[in-house]
Amino acid sequence: MARVHEVLVIGSGFGGSVAAARLAEAGVDVTLLERGPWRDTLPVQSMGIGNRIRYPAGMQVYTRGLRRVHGRWLPRQGLGLSRYGLFEIHAAGDVTTLSASGVGGGSHVYTALNDRPRVDGYWDGHHPEVSSAALEPHYQRVMEEMGGRPPRLEDAIPNLTAQRYRESRQFDAAPTLERPWHAVQFPETPGTSREIDWGEGIRRREADWKDGGLLGSRFGTKTTLDFAFLAPAMRRGLRVLDLHEAISVHLCRQTHTARYCVQTRNLYTGRIEPFYAENVMLAAGTMNTLRLLLSSRDEARGLDGMPALGRRFGTNGDAVAWWALDDAEADYSRGLPCHGVIAPRDGRRPDDPMLIEVGLVGIDGMPMPAPLRRKLRRGLMLMAMGADRADGRVRLHKGRLRVRYDRDASPVFQRAEHVFREVAEASGRKVRIRRKPFTVHPLGGATLGANESAGVIDGRGEVYGFPGLFVADAAALPAAPGGPPSMTIAAWSSWVAAQFLEARA
Ligand SMILES: Cc1cc2nc3c(=O)[nH]c(=O)nc-3n(C[C@H](O)[C@H](O)[C@H](O)COP(=O)(O)OP(=O)(O)OC[C@H]3O[C@@H](n4cnc5c(N)ncnc54)[C@H](O)[C@@H]3O)c2cc1C
Repeated sequence: MARVHEVLVIGSGFGGSVAAARLAEAGVDVTLLERGPWRDTLPVQSMGIGNRIRYPAGMQVYTRGLRRVHGRWLPRQGLGLSRYGLFEIHAAGDVTTLSASGVGGGSHVYTALNDRPRVDGYWDGHHPEVSSAALEPHYQRVMEEMGGRPPRLEDAIPNLTAQRYRESRQFDAAPTLERPWHAVQFPETPGTSREIDWGEGIRRREADWKDGGLLGSRFGTKTTLDFAFLAPAMRRGLRVLDLHEAISVHLCRQTHTARYCVQTRNLYTGRIEPFYAENVMLAAGTMNTLRLLLSSRDEARGLDGMPALGRRFGTNGDAVAWWALDDAEADYSRGLPCHGVIAPRDGRRPDDPMLIEVGLVGIDGMPMPAPLRRKLRRGLMLMAMGADRADGRVRLHKGRLRVRYDRDASPVFQRAEHVFREVAEASGRKVRIRRKPFTVHPLGGATLGANESAGVIDGRGEVYGFPGLFVADAAALPAAPGGPPSMTIAAWSSWVAAQFLEARA
């Protein structure tokens, strides 16, 4: 007789790791399936994990940079490039998304900004049992567990916006010193970088302002979920199965002892294996959670119903641009993964999106001609985020995810373009704006709602009509937080686990 797990968590990003950790801590029998590998970092080495895969570096950036690319003209399951690949691209109709793969999910590649929603009363009014006040203790806890804080001028961080624009008449970056928090290990003595014990035997290095960018954090200077949440949970019994990709979820027949069966591809052996569970928590990241739910319902016929599935998809108002500063004196590839917040001083409005500067930290590991590297080091990526209307729609078309999303319907994008133009004018340098919707923050589609026509899940994160099936990741978010969403996802996941434990008690 096959083993029946009490809880099966699918995906180990902010949604999956936090819920799995909370449940394991309370003594629940939890198994986590993650399609990507453990990454070969100093903290993961200190956890004693045997099978580790290095972040792509050198020529591997081309062979292992991408896991899979999905697009209209590509095979139904996308073009698989490497099971060890770090990034995944969904060119899905009107929106292109970028996400990560590996134990720890998006925390490996993210710019480590930790923040509460920028939208006041974010959680209020979506479901009678859920409110901003009820979620607040979960934000406090997850932000503390990530071990970050706002930067300080005395940290002597290269390229910190609050320092660079301190006396600027064009730009203001003072808010960087209050929020968001940056989840990195700030050096105790500025200018040095020691290896430290982070507790329970986890080794990591203090930030050296070179490690921790978009290509991962080899020395653990950036806090990633594998060591921050999964390591302690594994000591309490959590099982993490890397290189296991969930394919579909099926409601079991009434005669079976388990409620759900998850068909899974074991990427070590290539074989399909069924996993049986009483409860399943979906946390494969927005695009993959939606794919799992849509294909389980529309193709595998393992689930049904969910009339609101695919609705209220959003991009968190992401708009990106390249600021071609061409500053011969500068090397913006040093510093925090994100240099901080920036805003033009003139013409600001309360509804302006949040604007951040990102240097290409980690670019040293990418092979490219020297003149191009020089150019990239001397420029900055600008990212604007704000509350879009989150009125996109995701469906499965011939086995491929297809997103319908009208950028012009959300005023936040016009404001972002206006702010980009102000930056260009104030600096006298070109700002190249990408106009086609692109996001690293896809949200929604299996959202919280007061009933099954308003959303896919209820106030406990449970899918309407499917007891024991939960959505714990960004797909659950009922609206755009308008700023970095990882802590909102983590707080939601912590809330879902708490509700589960309360009901189980
Ligand atoms: C370049 C970049 C920079 C970012 N910077 C920030 C930032 O500074 N601050 C911030 O708040 N947010 C940031 N984000 C966004 C943040 O990373 C995401 O919002 C967050 O990771 C989403 O969490 P999640 O749990 O929903 O999904 P993810 O973190 O994407 O985790 C999903 C996990 O599930 C796994 N998975 C997928 N499909 C399957 C399957 N079928 N079976 C098993 N496993 C599966 C994936 O491999 C992945 O590990 C950034 C994102 C990117 C790409």
